[in-house]
Amino acid sequence: MNDLSETRSPSSSVGDYLKAVWELAVDSGGTASTKGVAARLSVSPASVSNMFARLQEMGLVRYERYRGATLTERGREEALRLVRRHRLIETFLLEHLGYDWQEVHDEAERLEHAVSDGFTERLAELLGHPDHDPHGDPIPSAEGSLEVDDSMALSQVVAGRRVRISKVRDEDAAMLDYLGDRNLVPGRWLRVREVRELDGVVVVEDEEAEVYALGDPLARSIFVRND
Ligand SMILES: [Zn+2]
Repeated sequence: MNDLSETRSPSSSVGDYLKAVWELAVDSGGTASTKGVAARLSVSPASVSNMFARLQEMGLVRYERYRGATLTERGREEALRLVRRHRLIETFLLEHLGYDWQEVHDEAERLEHAVSDGFTERLAELLGHPDHDPHGDPIPSAEGSLEVDDSMALSQVVAGRRVRISKVRDEDAAMLDYLGDRNLVPGRWLRVREVRELDGVVVVEDEEAEVYALGDPLARSIFVRND
């Protein structure tokens, strides 16, 4: 239990913060706001400010009051290490333990704090070094590089386009259940028939000419590429 990878693992809550900052910063061009991280982790903004100050002392983020936190190079490496773990565990649960895709996120959130880097790399080996997790998210390499994400939310697509689902947000099990039942999963082709500005509903048609009217939260949770 006392090998190097264990001792240099950040504690679970530090890790959760780093991942939250990383995820929010991806959407916001680099900085994660205190409010955003508080909402994501269901903690108070005051706790987030305290933790940001602590992470800054540890050299993992740059923190500016009222603006938020930006990951340092080291912070980013740590975040990506955890993201790699998380996504490999999700893939393993789905492919080998019979989990459904709406169940794997929560289980991976728990397990990622318990396993070592050595375990993670054996998992990668067993799985044949997958590039993407079950929700279509790219898996960072062991060296910490990550594919550039050029997908866009379905809510931003122009009507008439033919697009392919590249990934879906993985936190909401009910939503994944809904999408899975309709086979609205990564790899699937869709024709966008209508993007309604009034209420954000996006109407799509799949390859079997099945039509779905997807409400705004769903349209923001499905990411596609123009092909
Ligand atoms: Zn996940």
